[in-house]
Amino acid sequence: MPFAYYKNLSASDKKIYQESDRLTFVRLPWAKEFQPFIQALQGALVSEDQRETLRLTQKLVDALCQVFKVPQVKVKVLARRPSHDWGELHGLYESDGSGGKPLITVWMRTAKRKQVVAFKTYLRTLLHEVMHHLDYTLLGLKDSFHTEGFYKRESGLLKQIYPENK
Ligand SMILES: [Zn+2]
Repeated sequence: MPFAYYKNLSASDKKIYQESDRLTFVRLPWAKEFQPFIQALQGALVSEDQRETLRLTQKLVDALCQVFKVPQVKVKVLARRPSHDWGELHGLYESDGSGGKPLITVWMRTAKRKQVVAFKTYLRTLLHEVMHHLDYTLLGLKDSFHTEGFYKRESGLLKQIYPENK
């Protein structure tokens, strides 16, 4: 069952949606090699070191782009999430964000309570935005829709890079 917005899509967008929905798993090459990156990033986020969080987030995304053999993305880590009437924005992917290059923006703190976000939430948000990038660059989709397949790929990537039972 596609999400509700599916019915408002054009015929060509429906095709892209269906393609995205069919792709439910992306295997992460060298998954184990990511453990040190992840631990270092967790340390930086927990100690609320914004500069180090940005540096390590960029490093992690660079490594992901490298193993997936896709173009690099610039990452921006901002202090506080903007809040809107409809809720909080968690992250953002712009395919032509920074001088024509793709840009991912993530936020360290929640809008309301100004607390640093939980590491797993931070990582999931980041991987969500990375998955948008992979939709265009690795999977060859012409648009990046939130489909069930998309969310499965996002969860799968999180599990591979951050296994709960180590
Ligand atoms: Zn999204």
